[in-house]
Amino acid sequence: MTSRYDLDREGLAAVLAGHPRYRVDQVWNGLYAQAREPEEITNLPKELRAELAERLPPALEEVVRLEGDGGETVKWAWAVEGGHRVETVLMHYPDRTTVCVSTQAGCAMACDFCATGQAGFARHLTTGEIVEQVVRARRASGDKRLSNVVFMGMGEPLANYDPTWAAVERLHDDLGLGARSLTISTVGIVPGIRRLATESLPVNLAVSLHAANDELRDTIVPINRRYPLAELEDTCAEWQASKNRRLSFEWAMIAGTNDRASDADELAAIAGRLRAHVNLIPLNPTPGFGTQGSSPEAVEAFRRRLDRAGVTVTVRRNRGVDIDAACGQLAGTAVSAPARSAAR
Ligand code: SAH
Repeated sequence: MTSRYDLDREGLAAVLAGHPRYRVDQVWNGLYAQAREPEEITNLPKELRAELAERLPPALEEVVRLEGDGGETVKWAWAVEGGHRVETVLMHYPDRTTVCVSTQAGCAMACDFCATGQAGFARHLTTGEIVEQVVRARRASGDKRLSNVVFMGMGEPLANYDPTWAAVERLHDDLGLGARSLTISTVGIVPGIRRLATESLPVNLAVSLHAANDELRDTIVPINRRYPLAELEDTCAEWQASKNRRLSFEWAMIAGTNDRASDADELAAIAGRLRAHVNLIPLNPTPGFGTQGSSPEAVEAFRRRLDRAGVTVTVRRNRGVDIDAACGQLAGTAVSAPARSAAR
């Protein structure tokens, strides 16, 4: 059965065959602009609402809902068709509300410091499964209007290009989110970045760099063997030339591995050439990776060295560590933790 956010307008029109044509707009508006359940689209006749609820099931079944950071971070684990688990994280900040969505159940990229990579790949998510994560988060954020979407959850968005891009268009066209408030994060899939450069919507691009020489990057980000740094850098330059958007690099700080002065210098060189912003992420603990994160002092020294080299750099504020919702911790294994569960 097709889930409610997998249908395009034509698909919806087919479901509504026999009803007046204006019902298509009413249902579409109810599902998107108003983020409602079919039962709550009150300008529809009651019987139609009930029929739609049955014919257009949700794709995501809530398994666990956890709250962290005093309620400012919410993580869901959903069951999707096939019994897989995917996770979504909602984060409220003073000036914005951001949802982090998954694009695959699992991930094939095998970065060994990432919990999703440790678990391996299960399947691609559909457009509807991606869009519905945003709709459910929007509903949960209430008055704190959902303002930003980052494709930084489980999976590699550019390894699931078409459904991911269709979701971007749906968020932009139908949920009314501006291209500048959407960010796709990639491990560095060169053909995918090339395609992004040809798209008309100028979304933000974040590249998970983590190492700025091939020898080290080959080991911590294995896809680097297929798309090495020189090619990745050229492609990022191409993307920038066509989109004129700011590029950012993500860099998880791993003690003694990529937090040395020489790493900062190599990173400063590439970030300087691309005028990229650098986002340092204190390494979050994952079950399958023994190496420690850099100490706060090492993170600060690294930041200062980049700053002195003229690179714009920020340290990502860690969110959701208490509920395993932080970067790299989404394993799809969330279990009810009664002491801290806010499941409703
Ligand atoms: N596959 C995409 C989307 C995932 S984004 C990508 O690689 O960009 C998740 C971000 O968290 C990536 O930058 C990833 O490298 C980073 N990350 C993974 N494991 C981490 C960990 N243990 N601590 C901090 N950041 C981590």
